[in-house]
Amino acid sequence: MKRICVVGGGLAGVEALRHFQDALVRRPNVHVTFISPHEHFVYKPMLPDVAAGNLSARSAMLRLGALVDDDAKFTILKDRAEGLDASKGQVFVQNHDPVDFDELILATGTPLDMGPFAQNDTTDGFLAWTQAEHISRRVLEAFSAPGGDPEAHKRQLTFVVAGAGPAGVELAAELNASVRRALLPRASEAIRKRFRVILVDRRDAVLPSWSHETSSHARACLEMADIEVRLNDGVAGFDGQDVILDSGARIASKHLLWAAGRQAPQWLQQSGLPLSDDGRLLVNDTLEVPDTEGVFAVGDLATRQTGPAWPRLASTAARQGDIAADNALLDMVGASLQPFEHTPLGHMVRLGHQQALIELPQQRLLTGTAAWALVNLIHMSQAPTLTKKLAICADWLENAIQGQEWTRAWIE
Ligand SMILES: Cc1cc2nc3c(=O)[nH]c(=O)nc-3n(C[C@H](O)[C@H](O)[C@H](O)COP(=O)(O)OP(=O)(O)OC[C@H]3O[C@@H](n4cnc5c(N)ncnc54)[C@H](O)[C@@H]3O)c2cc1C
Repeated sequence: MKRICVVGGGLAGVEALRHFQDALVRRPNVHVTFISPHEHFVYKPMLPDVAAGNLSARSAMLRLGALVDDDAKFTILKDRAEGLDASKGQVFVQNHDPVDFDELILATGTPLDMGPFAQNDTTDGFLAWTQAEHISRRVLEAFSAPGGDPEAHKRQLTFVVAGAGPAGVELAAELNASVRRALLPRASEAIRKRFRVILVDRRDAVLPSWSHETSSHARACLEMADIEVRLNDGVAGFDGQDVILDSGARIASKHLLWAAGRQAPQWLQQSGLPLSDDGRLLVNDTLEVPDTEGVFAVGDLATRQTGPAWPRLASTAARQGDIAADNALLDMVGASLQPFEHTPLGHMVRLGHQQALIELPQQRLLTGTAAWALVNLIHMSQAPTLTKKLAICADWLENAIQGQEWTRAWIE
């Protein structure tokens, strides 16, 4: 019996699992252990919609057990990996015996590094559905709180998003648009004046890894929607009342929403596997970690050893999960492995109500409502099962007919 282990139930891990589900029909002597701390897969590109009350969390989630139908070939281990001995072929987990493997696929993504704010329960990291749902509830509560002292009320209605990469930009834009459409029209003059969304980044541009033109266009769209963009000034501290910036400036806000600083988990950084300068696992073109046998890394966690970096996108992660699963099976029988070839399809980001930006190859830009419709269509089509695609459509339809979730909650 050959043993494969997959660590991480995100897009890349789930695609690997789906590949094995099909491929193992013809291979009776392979067993897959799938390690995930959660019973559910979360489709992350939809999290900004959940945080902004446009989508119910259940539409962005899928039970992992629903993806496999042969208990003899698959073990889904609800646990968190916390160590790796690649030479002995063992993954250590928190609550079970070590998992032995012949082939390993690491697909843990890159958890948010919340640094000194990790213990502060008024900071929301923005990576899990629980956090996205929490942000949504928090916004509604902030708007329901009595006005009282104007300074305290301002703090309550000011939302600081840290990190101007795609996740932070989408979070700021979707939250801002939903509040302005669903809540502000019914709110008092004082609330309308006091509501602020501020996007903060230590770097000198929004979407800094995209082209200069896209980045400037995105910034202009955000500012036109009344989002304040503060660059060259990172978040240095937060005490639950004020966000303190590197420059010493203080923003009176009770809400720090964290979408910055992502690296391989600590236990992988300490595993002796080769790391890039930005803290990800280095892999070669077949997605294997160099100088290991049968260890693959995929998705956000992995970065190319040589050549231009792959973009950290849902489509990249899904395709890499599929290829790594195939390569693990090829590796078992000593066959040559296939390379991952990235086809650049462009970057995309949603920028609020009916606004989006798609950066196509050759730096051509598609913007506005057409881009927004296309991005939503692509996200929906990339959701992992037909049921999920339909659930997402149903939520959008409900919003269109009955009004956005916050509007309904506010009226009820
Ligand atoms: C808010 C947000 C919005 C995004 N929007 C877009 C978008 O619009 N378009 C786009 O293309 N991409 C988008 N992305 C990026 C895209 O979602 C990622 O590129 C993709 O999810 C990466 O997949 P992954 O499987 O590598 O990692 P993830 O999806 O992060 O999954 C990693 C999984 O590993 C698990 N894990 C972590 N540590 C351990 C451990 N120790 N043991 C076991 N399991 C572990 C985690 O719980 C998680 O389930 C967005 C990302 C975020 C966060």
